[in-house]
Amino acid sequence: MTTPITLALSKGRIFEETLPLLRAAGIEVLEDPETSRKLILATNQPHVRVVLVRASDVPTYVQHGGADAGVAGRDVLIEHGVEGLYLPLDLGIARCRMSVAVREDFDYAAAVRQGARLRVATKYTRIAREHFAEKGVHVDLIKLYGSMELAPLTGLADAIVDLVSTGGTLRANKLVEVERIMDISSRLVVNQAALKLKREPLRALIDAFAKAAA
Ligand code: ATP
Ligand code: MG
Repeated sequence: MTTPITLALSKGRIFEETLPLLRAAGIEVLEDPETSRKLILATNQPHVRVVLVRASDVPTYVQHGGADAGVAGRDVLIEHGVEGLYLPLDLGIARCRMSVAVREDFDYAAAVRQGARLRVATKYTRIAREHFAEKGVHVDLIKLYGSMELAPLTGLADAIVDLVSTGGTLRANKLVEVERIMDISSRLVVNQAALKLKREPLRALIDAFAKAAA
């Protein structure tokens, strides 16, 4: 009998984009999270199950052994920290970028040149803090949990730090991207203790993902 393994995925793009990699590893998820309310999904491999968690909870589950492995965005991993996690692979999925955006009528370059103190709204306070510290720009960070685009429009903030893929949401809200902080994609994360105790099934998964993601 093969040692059972648990994979933590988030619903939506990470789940959808991980499916082809699982398939390449011979794993078919037997339920569709969009129609089922189950949080634990069986697969065609009796020893493999998938648990559905919030994207930002994936590192926590894997660190504490609630899951043996998972898939998480670079944004989430930087914000959360990666202590105790083994990060063998960049899967190249859920690609986007972390950027600074402002209102179309806000002169960001001038504000930075003049050494103005910027009010920056974001869910990604660690990434934002490090970015502006590196640039030597003073910022007041305003922590938000969603709809960052609204902050500059309501006067809550001068700028936002957020994920951008097509730029459609920014355009629809008359915001412009003024700085690209980093490219984002998702990684396979593995619990380090599990890697020792469940070496065989986890190695097989890592190898199959590596081949499929290449
Ligand atoms: P929640 O919806 O639980 O608040 P979330 O918004 O971070 O969490 P998703 O929208 O599913 O969850 O995003 C999961 C991951 O996908 C993010 O951490 C990021 O790495 C990546 N991502 C987010 N937005 C995009 C996008 N527009 N295009 C491509 N990848 C994205
Ligand atoms: Mg989202």
